[in-house]
Amino acid sequence: MGTTDMDVAIRELAGRVRGPVLTPGDDGFEHELAGFNVATHHTPAVVVGAEDAQDVAAAVRFAAAHDLPVAVQATGHGAVLAFDRGVLVGTRRMQHLSIDPERRLATVGAGVKWRKVIDAAAPHGLGTLNGSSSDVGVVGYTLGGGLPVLGRTFGFASDRVVAADVVVADGSVVHVTADSEPELFWALKGGKASVGIVTSLTFELVPVAEIYGGGIFFPGEAAPEVLDAYRSWTHDLPDAMTTAVGLLRLPDMPSVPEPLRGKMVTHLKGAFVGDPAEGEALVAPMRAVAPAIADEFRVMSYTEVDTIHHDPEVPLPFRETVALLEDLTPEAVAGILAVAGPGVNTPLMMADLRHLGGALGRGPAADAVGARDALYSLFFLGLMVPPVAEAVPGALVAAVAEMAPYTTGRTFVNLHGTPASEEDRARAWPQDTYRRLRAVKHRFDPEDRFRFAHSVSPLPLPS
Ligand SMILES: Cc1cc2nc3c(=O)[nH]c(=O)nc-3n(C[C@H](O)[C@H](O)[C@H](O)COP(=O)(O)OP(=O)(O)OC[C@H]3O[C@@H](n4cnc5c(N)ncnc54)[C@H](O)[C@@H]3O)c2cc1C
Repeated sequence: MGTTDMDVAIRELAGRVRGPVLTPGDDGFEHELAGFNVATHHTPAVVVGAEDAQDVAAAVRFAAAHDLPVAVQATGHGAVLAFDRGVLVGTRRMQHLSIDPERRLATVGAGVKWRKVIDAAAPHGLGTLNGSSSDVGVVGYTLGGGLPVLGRTFGFASDRVVAADVVVADGSVVHVTADSEPELFWALKGGKASVGIVTSLTFELVPVAEIYGGGIFFPGEAAPEVLDAYRSWTHDLPDAMTTAVGLLRLPDMPSVPEPLRGKMVTHLKGAFVGDPAEGEALVAPMRAVAPAIADEFRVMSYTEVDTIHHDPEVPLPFRETVALLEDLTPEAVAGILAVAGPGVNTPLMMADLRHLGGALGRGPAADAVGARDALYSLFFLGLMVPPVAEAVPGALVAAVAEMAPYTTGRTFVNLHGTPASEEDRARAWPQDTYRRLRAVKHRFDPEDRFRFAHSVSPLPLPS
C-alpha cells in the first residue's frame, strides 16, 4: 500500500509531540484507547498520548488542518459515546500535581485522578470535592460540575475552580480565570468543556481531614421502610450531612463480599463534616429503621472516602442515566419502588437516590451547573453483560419515563449517560444555560472541532 498525504502528516505530527501518536493497527493503539467503561469502544483515526499542553495543542492544530473532530479521554469513566473518527487526545500521562497548603489550592494536569489529590492534600489537613469514586479524573468530573460526597456541605466541585489552561480550537493555549476570560470560565464550570481541552486546572481544597461517614447495608426487602424514613429524615438534615440510598442488585461474583453476593441490598451511605457525636446522633434514627446486614458508619480519615459508596474499582461495561427531583414525596418513593424495589424484575443493577440541596443549591452567582434547583438526583445503571445487556438501554429509558411525574425533566451532565439526540443532550442544563453554552461554543469553536459525548453545537445568541 502506498504512503498517503495523511500518513506523511501523521508522521510529521509524531515528530512534533513528545507522547505516542498511533493509528489503527499500531502496537499500543488499543491500549491507548482503553478506559473504565468497556462498553464503549472508540475508533479514532489517530490517538495522541499527550505528555503536556504543547502535545495537546499540536494534536488540535493537526485536526484543524485536516478538518477532523477532536475528542479527549483521561480515564474513560465518562465514555458514554464511541468516538469513531478524528483525533482522540489521551491525557493520562499529564500527571502534574502541586498543592499550595497556605492558599488551600491544588493544581493538576489533565490526567490526574482524585486519589492522587486526596493523598497529597491529606497531610496538610485538607480534603477534596471528589465524587463517589477516587478513580475518576479530576478534570472531566469538575468540568461537568462534579457532585461530591461532601456536596451539601461545600457545593459542586466546579464552584471551587480558580483557573484553567485550555487548548482552544485554533490550537492556542488560553489561561482562563474569572477576570481574564469570564465567558470561558463560566462555561468550564459545569458546561462539560465543549470549548477546548483543559490541560491544567487549579481549584480550592476544603479543610477536612476526618469525617463521620460510611454506610448501612439493609436487606433489599427493607427498601420501602428505608426510603420512607429517608424521605422525612432528609427533609430535616443539616448541610453538614450529605447522603444517598442505593437499591443494588449485586452480581453473584467472587469480588462481592459473601453476605451480599447475588442479593438485592438497600445501601444507605453518607458523610458528616463536624463533631462525630453529632453525626452519630443524626444517623441514629436511620439505624433503627430495620436490622442491618452491615453497619460501616464510623469516624474515618478523608483518605478512606471510597469506602462510603464502595464503587467498583475495575473497568466494567455499563450504561447509565439520571433524573432530577424537586422533592421526594411519598408518591416519588412509590415510583422508585415500582421501578427498582424488591420483587421488581429489572435488568438494572442500581438505582441511586442522592440528597442534593444545601450548598449545592446555592453556588456562585453564575456558572453552567445544571442541577442547582433539584433536591434529589436519581441515577440508574445497568451492566452491559449477558443475559441483560440487550435489555439495559430500554430499561434506562423506561425507568426515567416511569419517574417522569416526579422529576424536573432535566438531568446532570456528569451522570446523564449516552445522549440520544441533541434534544436529549440539552436536558443536562436549564434552557438559558444551554443557549449560553452554545453561544460560548460559537465564539471559541465555531467549526465544532470539539465534537464528542456531551459537547453542545455552536449557535450564536439571537441579536
Ligand atoms: C464509578 C463512577 C463514579 C462516579 N461518581 C460520580 C460522582 O460521584 N459525581 C459526579 O459528578 N460524577 C460521577 N461520575 C461521573 C464522572 O464525573 C464522569 O463520568 C466524568 O466525565 C469522568 O471524567 P473522566 O475524565 O474520569 O472520564 P473520561 O471518560 O476520560 O472523560 C469524560 C469526559 O470528560 C471530559 N474531559 C475529560 N478530560 C478533559 C479535558 N482535559 N478537557 C476537556 N474535557 C475533558 C470530556 O467531555 C470527556 O468526554 C462517576 C462515574 C463513574 C464511572
